[in-house]
Amino acid sequence: MTSEIPSRPARPIPRAGVLDIPAYVPGRSKATGGARVYKLSSNETPLGASPKAIAAYRAAAEKLELYPEDTAPSLRAAIGRVIGLAPERLVCGTGSDEMLNLLAHAYVGPGDEGIYSEHGFLVYPIAITAAGGVPVKVPEKNLVADVDAILAAVTERTKIVFLANPNNPTGTYLPFDEVKRLAAGLPKDVVLVLDAAYAEYVRRNDYEAGIELVSTSENVVMTRTFSKIYGLAAARLGWLYGPPEIVDAVNRIRPPFNVSAAAIVAGIAAIEDRDHTAAAAEHNEVWLTKVTEALTALGLTVTPSVANFVLVHFPDVDGRRAADADDFLSERGVIVRRVTAYGFPDALRITIGSAEANQAMIAALAAFVGK
Ligand SMILES: *Cc1c(COP(=O)(O)O)cnc(C)c1O
Repeated sequence: MTSEIPSRPARPIPRAGVLDIPAYVPGRSKATGGARVYKLSSNETPLGASPKAIAAYRAAAEKLELYPEDTAPSLRAAIGRVIGLAPERLVCGTGSDEMLNLLAHAYVGPGDEGIYSEHGFLVYPIAITAAGGVPVKVPEKNLVADVDAILAAVTERTKIVFLANPNNPTGTYLPFDEVKRLAAGLPKDVVLVLDAAYAEYVRRNDYEAGIELVSTSENVVMTRTFSKIYGLAAARLGWLYGPPEIVDAVNRIRPPFNVSAAAIVAGIAAIEDRDHTAAAAEHNEVWLTKVTEALTALGLTVTPSVANFVLVHFPDVDGRRAADADDFLSERGVIVRRVTAYGFPDALRITIGSAEANQAMIAALAAFVGK
């Protein structure tokens, strides 16, 4: 029987704003050629997860019928021990993406504004829009977030500011003095989210992930992930460190049992394997420099990065641009990330991979530019 009310739509219609969200387009995951394939498109670690984390994940298969611990207390305790944080101020989730989305849903409502920077992580405008809010994009200065511009963009409707530090896809970072200046300039009721997904890779004296700032503020939150240096991207695991009131609000909308038992035990083993983490950071330090130098020597412009990837800009050589370089690399088994959606139609983001992958990538780009 059809509805008697003629004005009802013929099928369910998502609420206002949902269909305005551009679908997140992940990096290419398959190459179009090449005897060997090197995936340098998603900032995954070439060292893989700690063998201890893999063993723990496997062992979790023996108890698949049991619900995991709610709120992941054993994982929060492990993070607290290793990083030096109070476990009751931590929330764990299915990737830091879940944390970013829960923060937006807890603090942004219809008509509210959320700020992110020009080349910032695209999950931010998606999370803001999904919560019913309006994403406000603020220009950067020399590919770095601009504190004055962010502060100037704050209105009465601003509820949240997302800052990736270091940022993806630029690899640039904001010195801690600037982050503190941003926090000090924001109204006290605006949540400042410091997304420190790449913090473990950064080796700069003027960088801090934001722990001290969170500890001494009521409106600053730091998010972290197990997807990058810890090599657990497939397990989906991230966390946030925040003031008690924000932790409480996020926990109220967090789905119960959101983190799987396998992810919990893998995360504990991963974060406790400090040698593995140090080895991954060391490998990155060495190859970030080598890759930057090699690509610069090819005549390409590389934005100075402190993370585990580089943003490589392609001048318009003979009309060939980043898209052609991407195809050329893909035919040779090297998968990289196009970043047009981030405002860089003429650039590619390339993850620091294994020595072999990096060498294959450099050789392919040398062939592309004819050197
Ligand atoms: C990769 C990345 C994350 C991590 O997301 P997960 O959901 O934890 O995998 C968060 N923020 C930025 C800026 C990233 O690049």
